Amino acid sequence: MKKTTPKFIFITGGVVSSLGKGLASASLASIFISRGFKVRLRKLDPYLNVDPGTMSPYQHGECFVTDDGAETDLDLGHYERFTGVNSKKSDNVTTGKIYSQVLKKERRGDYLGATIQVIPHVTDAIKKFIKSDINDEDFMFCEIGGTVGDIESLPFIEAIRQLRNELGRENTCFVHVTLLPYINAAKELKTKPTQHSVKELQGMGIQPDILLCRTETKIPNDQKSKIAQFCNVREEAVIEAIDVNSIYEVPIAYHESGFDKEIINYFNLKSANPPDLSIWKSIVSVQKLSDGIVNIGIVGKYTSIIDSYKSLIEAITHGGIANKTKVNLIWIDSENIDKNLNCFKNVNGIIVPGGFGERGSEGKILAINYARSNKIPFLGICLGMQLSVIEFARNVMEHKEASSTEFKTTNFPVISLLTEWKTKIGKEKRDLLSEYGGTMRLGSYECHLIKNSKIFNIYKKSIIYERHRHRYEVNVNLCENFKNKGLIFTGMSPDKVLPETLELIDHPWFIGVQFHPELKSRPFEPHPLFVSFVNASLNQSRLL
Ligand code: GLN
Repeated sequence: MKKTTPKFIFITGGVVSSLGKGLASASLASIFISRGFKVRLRKLDPYLNVDPGTMSPYQHGECFVTDDGAETDLDLGHYERFTGVNSKKSDNVTTGKIYSQVLKKERRGDYLGATIQVIPHVTDAIKKFIKSDINDEDFMFCEIGGTVGDIESLPFIEAIRQLRNELGRENTCFVHVTLLPYINAAKELKTKPTQHSVKELQGMGIQPDILLCRTETKIPNDQKSKIAQFCNVREEAVIEAIDVNSIYEVPIAYHESGFDKEIINYFNLKSANPPDLSIWKSIVSVQKLSDGIVNIGIVGKYTSIIDSYKSLIEAITHGGIANKTKVNLIWIDSENIDKNLNCFKNVNGIIVPGGFGERGSEGKILAINYARSNKIPFLGICLGMQLSVIEFARNVMEHKEASSTEFKTTNFPVISLLTEWKTKIGKEKRDLLSEYGGTMRLGSYECHLIKNSKIFNIYKKSIIYERHRHRYEVNVNLCENFKNKGLIFTGMSPDKVLPETLELIDHPWFIGVQFHPELKSRPFEPHPLFVSFVNASLNQSRLL
């Protein structure tokens, strides 16, 4: 394999959180891809959890799963969607993971009795992570989570400071993302918070090379020079990141503000190809021209925190773009569904997404029953598919006690924990006593689709690979009984032990999938299930 030294771009954030550093990193990387470079993106999260797998979606948003089965930060979803490059386990680390590695080594005696300290042991482990598993990438974008000044982020900032020293200015670039708040009373953008946050970075030994300034309005030239002067950067290195209507405009907007050019100049890559941003331009123009509107109801527990369903929202948006239609999302809290089911009145399609635990499950079952009985297009994802099996067992097969062992002990467990299954590399096992984190079927698995089923016609192939994140499975022994009543399992694991997809014979579009198709949808490569689902919902809206 060709070994080159990649250029490392370290992205930090200042002033406030939620500045969209993830999106900024992903958009910048996408411009470099369009210039023909090979890129990877990494996220270094300062929190103490070992991974986001066990973190509440209320606090941390969605947990993004990679092909190789890592439970990661949702920013990796942005990275994949903007660059088309699949993330790996080695692209996300947390303080918790770094410390558990260091402590494991300490227990093994690897440090030969040395006193273990943040510098050098923890910082060395962070540097090792940053430099690990690199092949022939030209650029490695490393985003440091949180905001500069947080106690937890100190070792990460120190590690990248050391890396600048080790790898040299010619191989490292510091980008700092800040906010210029607009004060209405003064009719002015304020630069002071940016100055303070840069000062904080400088205090830790880092002089940012480029400042990416989030702003609601254009930055006047005199303000730019002021920032440059106070923050010790050249004026051209103060990049305006003005708010845009759609996230797909961000790569275009960044290019227009000279962000990629500044980095190219910084590394002296004069002969670099110009960027080709045509895919982003065409996506934005389709979005602008889209007419019609389709109402998609999402029935879930975390509807107040839309970051919990980030990839799902994106995948539906991609489906809308492919159908040249605007999609209106209607959030339905599964714990508060009124008896008259009024919340479903205007919906043209219903999605019950993934989830954990019994809370809200009866509301989701009501939604599924509504979609099935009224022939509304329905997509059940993971828990959504499992609940559609329960709904069918209860209301069509008359097994009123049907449930999942995730919720309670039941005489008719249509969904239960499978303790052992075969994979290409051998047997995998799990049981209820295993540690909670990391006991799931995680990552990409092969699934075989039955020829001429609805889902086969959507994917247009019989072998698919999709990402999983669940513990419980449909009881395969019941498949025949379901089939006789009109619910068929159209996709199975290669050993035919794990039902992976289902559909109803007597329904225009009712599909359940045990995996998470939303994780693999990209704006320039919309996932076929979402394209087809939005299309079916659009047809439903025309019937009204
Ligand atoms: N709670 C279910 C399980 O563990 C479904 C998980 C999910 O929807 N991601 O199997």
